[in-house]
Amino acid sequence: MLIAGNWKMNGDPSSLEEFGRMIARAPEAAAKGVDLVVCPPAVLIAKCADRATVSMIAVGGQDCHPDPSGAHTGDISAEMLAACGARYVIVGHSERRTDHGETDALVAKKAEAAQRGGLVAIVCVGETEAERDAGDALAVVKRQIEGSLPATLDPAGLVLAYEPVWAIGTGKTPSIDDIAEMHAHIRALLESRFPAVPVLILYGGSVKPGNAAEILAVDNVDGALVGGASLKADDFLGIALAAPNHG
Ligand code: PEP
Repeated sequence: MLIAGNWKMNGDPSSLEEFGRMIARAPEAAAKGVDLVVCPPAVLIAKCADRATVSMIAVGGQDCHPDPSGAHTGDISAEMLAACGARYVIVGHSERRTDHGETDALVAKKAEAAQRGGLVAIVCVGETEAERDAGDALAVVKRQIEGSLPATLDPAGLVLAYEPVWAIGTGKTPSIDDIAEMHAHIRALLESRFPAVPVLILYGGSVKPGNAAEILAVDNVDGALVGGASLKADDFLGIALAAPNHG
């Protein structure tokens, strides 16, 4: 089970205290067989990673550029993230797809770059509310998975996050049956492409300590990608400790 926190564009050096509280409590999650990853804003990655070196918590980036270096003002490569101590990177988050017009093809290049840089790629997919209302959620996610996973992908360095766009930051979540249906669908897609390697499938979208136990108990839910509730150690650990025992 993997619980990954996405701090988005939140945090400043004072957030390192909160991260320290997460480090201090990471052994509680580890005792349950739950791995923790925190993806702070880029400016905090090196400091977080320095603090996390001997702890049971990994650090990740929120995005990377497809290229290893070059004239791309404002961008950060997977190699740079890795050099700062990151072990994971989120690619294709719906906020990147919406705010920056990222396509499946670009997300696939970023996932490839992540693995070239030695990082585990957390690839995000998920339908909009209109797509779900139209009955297209399963087809949309299939298309996104096919388009966002590069041909060269090593499944051992992949985590797939299903994040319905309409559930992110809204307090709304799909029904448990809908989560189960989508995760079974994603499992079947991943197993047909990577029959020998099990890939972790995370659910993301308004996961909180209060709903985590129910969501994390769903078949084929191997963890959560958490936005708002990952900013506070008590909430983040509350989610991790709600996971069914795997340790
Ligand atoms: C996210 O940003 O990936 C996310 C799931 O956000 P939230 O938990 O706030 O809905």
